[in-house]
Amino acid sequence: MKACLLRARARIETNPLEYSDVPTPRPGPGAVLVRVNACGVCRTDLHVIEGELAPRKSPVIPGHQVVGVVGACGENARRFLPGARVGVAWLHQTDGTCSYCRAGAENLCDNPSFTGYTVDGGYAEYIVAPEDFVYGIPEGFADEQAAPLLCAGIIGYRCLRLCGIQPGGRLGLYGFGAAAHVAIQVARHWKVEVYAATRDERHQQLALELGAVWAGGTLDAPPAPLDAAIIFAPAGEILPAALRALRKGGTLALGGIHMSAIPPLDYDLLYQERVVRSVANNTREDGREFLRLAAEIPIRTRVQVFPLREANRALNALKNDAISGAAVLDCKS
Ligand SMILES: [Zn+2]
Ligand SMILES: [Zn+2]
Repeated sequence: MKACLLRARARIETNPLEYSDVPTPRPGPGAVLVRVNACGVCRTDLHVIEGELAPRKSPVIPGHQVVGVVGACGENARRFLPGARVGVAWLHQTDGTCSYCRAGAENLCDNPSFTGYTVDGGYAEYIVAPEDFVYGIPEGFADEQAAPLLCAGIIGYRCLRLCGIQPGGRLGLYGFGAAAHVAIQVARHWKVEVYAATRDERHQQLALELGAVWAGGTLDAPPAPLDAAIIFAPAGEILPAALRALRKGGTLALGGIHMSAIPPLDYDLLYQERVVRSVANNTREDGREFLRLAAEIPIRTRVQVFPLREANRALNALKNDAISGAAVLDCKS
């Protein structure tokens, strides 16, 4: 099969992904083989490629927002029939036995594997995944439209839950890429007022089109105190500005898997019971809940589609803020 292979971490400007022929994987017991139709491009893929996340498998095929069709089932895999449309997301597998898994917090599992990082991902024509960690994809979404739901959507949804925003509340979104452009649609559905702070004017424009009541620069003060905020951008220097915008008792959720260093904080910014918390991975229940909600609303993703062989170009565009909404790879040859 064709796949985009990362042999060694490198800056994306050097176009490190090699479009190569590799053996088609075979589904082991309990796993399914998925013919990939579309794979979303996530900032985490950039962190894997550029080495902000320590290398765990080499070479590796990145990509963890896979939409495709079950092509074959391994031994004892019975959940899906060949031909079923499914999604594969970041959480590839957990041990099911550690204290976190047993407590319903499998997102914090001590022995997890992650798609496109510790195991091969979806920048390819085929992928294998344990059937228990595969999602059914609701009808009503084209493959390319559905792909960004699988990480940008699910993680954004978990951030929305964990920041505690309530109907009628005021929510700040810092960074307005793939995750924020989905999260705002959920927030609007919940009758939340959204304030978007992002450095790129095209992204500010998109936020306004999607119903933000205000859009400004990342460090600009929103015109009203926020009940909660989410930072999606991987930039620690945003944190003081976001805290300053928060009302007493408000929560700031950090949605990224990587963030640059956070500058020293005046305690006054945190005092008055403001809360800063990170959001790590997601549980399968988050995924199932969000996909149901996405179909019900319905979420409309804006996607920019690139051929699989041009994954480097898609990632360079993402790094340069040149994607409006989400980048998606078309993996059908
Ligand atoms: Zn576990
Ligand atoms: Zn992701």
